[in-house]
Amino acid sequence: MNTEAFSYKDGAPKWYRCAACDAHGGKLWRPAGVKFFTLLCVQCSMGEQRARCRVHIPETDPEYSAAIGNRVPAISDESVTVWYGSDDCPVPARLWWFNLPTVLDDVKDEPTPQRRRAKAARRKAD
Ligand SMILES: [Zn+2]
Repeated sequence: MNTEAFSYKDGAPKWYRCAACDAHGGKLWRPAGVKFFTLLCVQCSMGEQRARCRVHIPETDPEYSAAIGNRVPAISDESVTVWYGSDDCPVPARLWWFNLPTVLDDVKDEPTPQRRRAKAARRKAD
């Protein structure tokens, strides 16, 4: 994963993408307790963890632990030298992550190859 320093005020940096579906702009999760990892969006995390129930992630409660199985919120400092856990995560970092959208529209729109084809056809028709 090629990371670059960023600023919380700018939302999700360019490199902050789901490794499985390339979704960009929303919340991502990382596996807990490992040094090298991939980031996944909510849907891919749930798929990986076989989480069938919907995960409820409140947008306004920075104290809430929004883990999905053994994946935890992927929250780094602005220079991307530290990935915080729930105990050491400063409030500005929490707020940055919680303010990112949870489910990305482009992910929601394209869960199946059929829908992807339909969307491509619509684009062609325009
Ligand atoms: Zn994804």
